Amino acid sequence: MADADPVTLPAAESARMKALFDGQHAASRREPHATLDERRDRLDRLKIMVKARAEEFVTAISADFGTRSRVETELMELVPTLSAIDHARRSLAGWMKPERRRVGINFQPGRAFIHYEPLGVIGIISPWNYPLNLALSPLVDALAAGNRVLLKPSELTPAFSAVLREAISEAFDDNEVAVVTGGVEVGKAFASLPFDHLLFTGSTAIGREVYKAAAANLVPVTLELGGKSPAIVADDYPLERAARSIAFGKFLNAGQTCIAPDYVLVPKAKAEALADALLAEVRRAYPDPASDADYSGVISERHRQRLTDAIDKAKASGARILSHGEKAATKAGKVAPTIVLGPTEETILDAEEIFGPVLPIVPYERLDDAIAFVNGRDRPLALYCFSKDAGTQAHVLGRTVSGGATVNGTLLHIAQESLPFGGVGPSGIGAYHGLEGFKRFSHARGVYKAGGFIAFEKLGPPWGKLARRMAA
Ligand code: NAD
Repeated sequence: MADADPVTLPAAESARMKALFDGQHAASRREPHATLDERRDRLDRLKIMVKARAEEFVTAISADFGTRSRVETELMELVPTLSAIDHARRSLAGWMKPERRRVGINFQPGRAFIHYEPLGVIGIISPWNYPLNLALSPLVDALAAGNRVLLKPSELTPAFSAVLREAISEAFDDNEVAVVTGGVEVGKAFASLPFDHLLFTGSTAIGREVYKAAAANLVPVTLELGGKSPAIVADDYPLERAARSIAFGKFLNAGQTCIAPDYVLVPKAKAEALADALLAEVRRAYPDPASDADYSGVISERHRQRLTDAIDKAKASGARILSHGEKAATKAGKVAPTIVLGPTEETILDAEEIFGPVLPIVPYERLDDAIAFVNGRDRPLALYCFSKDAGTQAHVLGRTVSGGATVNGTLLHIAQESLPFGGVGPSGIGAYHGLEGFKRFSHARGVYKAGGFIAFEKLGPPWGKLARRMAA
């Protein structure tokens, strides 16, 4: 389990990072436009590498987490990465086609196009919670758009990062894709490089620092951040079904999922019943969280302490705590699945993204009170609405703003290749995945091709004739 030293920047790593960046930068200026075949070849090599190293990745990620379900790593990391590669591979020729635009009468004969061209060198800084998918799915989009890429994975998954670094250096020339490893100091130095675009996935607090560092070089950014994603259960929705979906989204990877439901809003009269249904669901899914390999560990002692302190504080302020296997889980270095019913004010459960297996239930009187509760906070990365009624669904979606949303489920919008994924406001800037990812990492170059001597030029200086016409 990871508690790595986060604040050292070895001189050798710093020099290596600079050399890799300079090499990619020079190559991107020498050969700015990767062809369709070159892009396909890079995607193919990535796919072959991921498949060949799958077992090593799964084992390394389990080691980094202490416990991480193999199936979760396969379902949430390998499968979406491979399917993103296939989707990009399939769609690339169409995405790359110049897009024809209308030409005004004064500019005819002529034609106008948007050419989607590579930006150059893309930096990707990724977090620990889904270390493979959050490093490689932006990589897929950046390669599809014809770029060169430097990756900086999290220091909290050292085993995974070591495998990734070796695997990437085998599959790619350093001038195409390379991995830089290290902690906060490496991250800071990395964010200060004059990339053509920088994608950061991580916390809102570090996102602010990355944004500042990038601004110094006028580097455009995509920030994939966190936030408190609500689940709103309407009065008409069956509680057991809601409990099943919410428990799935919340306790997967022990709550360490950026789009996990952070808290649940439920009609006041149903709050106790939902808490009981969630506890029953947790007992069914994870019979023994302490020893269960399907129930993930929390990434580090520091993160565990933060969560257990929050639970203790909520308990002390009179909240009802429903947890499954708390003592045994603590002994095993895990945090048990925990549902909190009652006051959470003045705890991190109310103030911050929880990012762990602790789920507060917030009762509401009227649906509009639940909506007002959501709108009184920062705009979240995701929102979940549970109702069978199309009018209620539209009411909730129409009066809230979030990065993405799933109706009558959790997490599932992220799995749609055809949808952009990203936050809004403090939960992020910009989106990627599929076509939006390709466009995010491309420069939309406007190109006008004059088809002859056009009217606009015929009107050129001396301006006397035009001036007289305009004055008339
Ligand atoms: P983090 O912000 O602590 O670290 C993310 C990365 O930034 C790591 O690689 C780290 O080494 C690096 N870093 C740290 N300090 C830096 C600095 N000053 N400059 C540059 N880089 C620096 O995040 P984390 O704890 O690894 O991940 C958890 C957070 O990520 C949660 O808030 C979660 O919601 C968010 N997240 C968001 C998404 C999304 O797609 N929106 C996905 C997963 C996680």
